[in-house]
Amino acid sequence: MDFKNRYQDFFETLHPSHMDEERFVPAVGPEKADFMLIGEAPGANEVEQREPFVGRAGKRMDDILSDIGVDRSELYITNLVKVRPPDNRDPKSEEIKGWAPLLEEEIENVDPDIIITLGNFPSKYMLDTSKGISQIHGRIFTREGQKIMPVFHPAATLYDRSKSPELEKDFRKAFGKENSGQQKLSDL
Ligand code: URA
Repeated sequence: MDFKNRYQDFFETLHPSHMDEERFVPAVGPEKADFMLIGEAPGANEVEQREPFVGRAGKRMDDILSDIGVDRSELYITNLVKVRPPDNRDPKSEEIKGWAPLLEEEIENVDPDIIITLGNFPSKYMLDTSKGISQIHGRIFTREGQKIMPVFHPAATLYDRSKSPELEKDFRKAFGKENSGQQKLSDL
């Protein structure tokens, strides 16, 4: 079933000021998944392809995932706000509030083992904190019995390359792909 039909009740109650069909991007991934990723809001590439994380930040994320042996197609990938904010501005708190009930329904349906929040906006929303991502990334928190791990937003690694190994390390921990520390004889 397509996303808007699955969540028809939500879309019927969403305030029209929060919806813009031309800038709307649905979530992608299996209906039930072990891992759920939550981004901030779609960008221009995502709107063009109607899929989250397919632009530069998405490519960076896919590269890291494939380096650590995670298959993107097994992940449920969504955004806190599902309409692209104009002029690349940050999502407003009314927009976050307007879209939040949908995210809560998605979490209930997907029922993931762990939720990975990408960057400040979804991390602050999910953990109800004002602490910044640099302080909290890579740690596992619980929210109503559900595990949540905040990580740097992949876009942040494009501007600050030192964040890339941090994101990889956090992803490894979240996906259970941590380096064993063992070395192969052939690597010596
Ligand atoms: N950044 C996000 O937060 N979400 C996307 O879907 C793409 C880029």
